[in-house]
Amino acid sequence: MNEAQTTDVIVIGGGLAGGLAALALARAGFSVALVDAQDPAAMRAAAFDGRTTALAYGCARVFRRLGLWPAIAPEAEPILDILVTDGRARSRLSDGSSSPFHLHFDSRELEAGEPLGWIVENRVLRDALYDAVAAEPAVALFAPAAVASAEFGPGAARATLEDGRALAAPLVVAADGKNSALRRQAGLRVNRWSYPQTGIVVTVAHERPHKGVAQEFFLPSGPFAILPMTQNRSSLVWTERGDAAPAYLVLDDAAFLKEIENRFGDYLGRLRLAGPRWSYPLSFHLSQRFIAPRLALIGDAARAIHPIAGQGYNLGVKDVAALVETLCDAASLGLDIGHGATLARYERWRRFDSTMLALGTDVLNRLFSNDLAPLRLARAAGMSAVGRVGALRRFFMRQAGADLGELPALMQPGP
Ligand SMILES: Cc1cc2nc3c(=O)[nH]c(=O)nc-3n(C[C@H](O)[C@H](O)[C@H](O)COP(=O)(O)OP(=O)(O)OC[C@H]3O[C@@H](n4cnc5c(N)ncnc54)[C@H](O)[C@@H]3O)c2cc1C
Repeated sequence: MNEAQTTDVIVIGGGLAGGLAALALARAGFSVALVDAQDPAAMRAAAFDGRTTALAYGCARVFRRLGLWPAIAPEAEPILDILVTDGRARSRLSDGSSSPFHLHFDSRELEAGEPLGWIVENRVLRDALYDAVAAEPAVALFAPAAVASAEFGPGAARATLEDGRALAAPLVVAADGKNSALRRQAGLRVNRWSYPQTGIVVTVAHERPHKGVAQEFFLPSGPFAILPMTQNRSSLVWTERGDAAPAYLVLDDAAFLKEIENRFGDYLGRLRLAGPRWSYPLSFHLSQRFIAPRLALIGDAARAIHPIAGQGYNLGVKDVAALVETLCDAASLGLDIGHGATLARYERWRRFDSTMLALGTDVLNRLFSNDLAPLRLARAAGMSAVGRVGALRRFFMRQAGADLGELPALMQPGP
């Protein structure tokens, strides 16, 4: 057996969740081995991931506190307003904004004095994270290097890489994504289902400024989101029926743009495709436990949810902030950071919030992705109630902004 390289924590998976965890743990004083199966250069390429992230304002504080914001801010567009419409853009414009089918969330109603969030390309987040990780002496990066197996002993965990190298630590953080092999190996069960929907993602440039307004139209096939980006561009997340999406994806540019305009309306003037089309099959899973002996799940390894509310990665950021604080508190008391009692606090902190949000987004998608008359009426009643009650609107804005509940120190307001 090879002699293992020992650190305080092994983070397996260097995606957006694992990269952030490695950096935050290192900044908190832990030594970290970060392992990813893929080549970091390939993960930074424009062709790797065409998505943007709607980063909640509470989660953006984590990036600020870790000193990442100066690298992100020039390419982050603040979300000042969110307009939600039950139906197409055209009907919204012709009906007028007082209809019960519309909802307006205005960042100026919040005391936080912050935008509701920022739209940032995943590529930009990855660049900022990987540059910071590369400059962080407390992180040893193993990539490309897949983990072949992991063992969880009473005193330490050990991970063996496919090339035979071995790592040991009191704790392994599983950030290996929605098909997490570590979760499976630890015997953690998941509740999962597929949505009969595909997320089509594309960037468009437009004639008129978006003024920081994010729009979401609930269409029978699923939500159609228009997310404001820098340089007069918007990122579209078009949820389409899974059986219909392939036909849209192979249309020529003019026909594809026409389909977009049919849904989008003309409120931003002429549109132009400003990037390739991407597609993501949509599914849900929620791990029944977020911990196992010497193992903590974060990010999509813990749960993956429908993108209807742009919350998937935000949940992963909250995982990181809560885990770092839990481990710091344990270490400051001289406790074992991989002990079950330490990890139980992390699980209590994160699982309830995750479950509520995961199920909430699932219900929202089921309620809105159809054209059934009774549900249309229920939606109108619900939207009208939220639209009329300021306290309800502020509750939803703070919930989506990751600014409610017991906030870890990294997510609290202030400098
Ligand atoms: C269409 C769409 C739009 C979205 N929009 C938003 C949004 O606006 N806001 C938001 O908050 N979220 C959004 N999300 C969700 C968000 O993209 C994900 O939650 C996030 O990317 C998950 O990151 P992760 O690091 O947990 O997982 P991943 O990105 O899957 O990373 C897992 C990593 O683990 C590595 N790995 C796997 N197995 C091994 C192994 N055995 N050894 C070593 N490494 C391994 C992989 O190489 C990979 O790099 C969206 C999702 C979709 C589909």
